[in-house]
Amino acid sequence: MIVGGGVVGCATAFFAGRAGLSTVLLEKRPALATLTTPVSSGAFRLQFDNPEEIALVRESVALFDELQDRGHDLELRRQGYLFVATTQDGAAAQAELVARQREWGLDDVELMSGEEARRRFPYLAEGLCGARFRQRDGWLNPRRLSQALAAESAATVLLDREVVGLERQGDRVTGVRLADGVVSAGWVVIAAGPLSAGLAIKAGIDLPIQLVRRHKLVVPDAPQVPGRAPMTIEYETGAHWRPALRGAYGLWTAPAPAEGAREDLPASAEFGFGLLDPRSDHALARVAPFWKEVWETPGLQWWLQAGYYDYTPDRRPLLGPTPVPGLALNTGYSGHGIMGSGGGSRRVIDAITGRIEPRDNPLRPDRPMLERRFDVL
Ligand SMILES: Cc1cc2nc3c(=O)[nH]c(=O)nc-3n(C[C@H](O)[C@H](O)[C@H](O)COP(=O)(O)OP(=O)(O)OC[C@H]3O[C@@H](n4cnc5c(N)ncnc54)[C@H](O)[C@@H]3O)c2cc1C
Repeated sequence: MIVGGGVVGCATAFFAGRAGLSTVLLEKRPALATLTTPVSSGAFRLQFDNPEEIALVRESVALFDELQDRGHDLELRRQGYLFVATTQDGAAAQAELVARQREWGLDDVELMSGEEARRRFPYLAEGLCGARFRQRDGWLNPRRLSQALAAESAATVLLDREVVGLERQGDRVTGVRLADGVVSAGWVVIAAGPLSAGLAIKAGIDLPIQLVRRHKLVVPDAPQVPGRAPMTIEYETGAHWRPALRGAYGLWTAPAPAEGAREDLPASAEFGFGLLDPRSDHALARVAPFWKEVWETPGLQWWLQAGYYDYTPDRRPLLGPTPVPGLALNTGYSGHGIMGSGGGSRRVIDAITGRIEPRDNPLRPDRPMLERRFDVL
């Protein structure tokens, strides 16, 4: 039994099917992938600062390719991820990271001077200090991915079905409670995105997750945006954008206070101005000056979407069985749930079916966690 029909629940259903498990996916909303998943920019990258996440995303990307090969149009684009540094310290940090990535076997990240980057990507500002770029990073449509995973799973998908409680016999979770009855299951997997902690606590499990509101700026029509550009990130501020629709998506992940879970999350107008207004200290125009022209376009339209990053202390997901028998987790992706969905969900199902032992699952929910700083994205 999988609770939640975002990308993570759908990927769980996919791997449960592959493992031959009889599976039901319960989604409280009237359609799949309508909460956090569609707010994301759908991007994936192997450019991480640790080998575990590189492996996790590498596996997901192989699955995305497989789904495309099987005829699912995920709108997958490999236009790359370009991190640009505006300071010498930033450029040195990029170089150091690329050296470590090579040690971990990620050998196709190109390191460039600011000048080289500008020759390759002429929309960049003058005077940048350095850049790193990986062509095979990219993005896809996260709703299409979720729907493809659900379609390829053998699961029974039930919409408009809210899980309101967990059934227990002694210590063991034996099923879920809906408004109109109880459904039994050998295993219940919580894949409820930002609402996961509210479910887990019903079994006495207090998830170490902090919810932080994040926004996506949608500029649907801006001819100034080069359609073939990569995801372009200012390393120092974390502000970034990528081509989308006939314009772009813009994002920024500044430190922000944790909030309580709510589904009708409002967006803040300030977020849009912070990226678009060239006077802002994290304006997109800092590294890509055409954004000044976009801002000055008469009649420019934009809108904002808001969703949560579900941060764990070490910024990695909670994958696999909990100390409560019959209850497993697939949540806490800390802002990387599209790109982590494939590798993460395969691990959850392998842990449930005993194909991997707890000691071989470094992302098991009861692992000791070291605090890590906020990733730049
Ligand atoms: C602005 C922004 C940008 C992002 N960009 C990226 C990106 O580029 N790349 C990337 O990898 N990640 C990105 N992310 C993160 C990514 O969106 C999430 O990690 C991912 O969508 C989490 O998927 P999920 O299935 O866990 O959660 P959700 O998509 O929130 O799905 C959870 C589902 O569970 C259902 N549910 C909850 N409770 C119940 C219940 N009691 N009964 C039944 N159903 C229930 C909900 O209705 C919902 O449909 C971004 C996030 C944000 C906010």
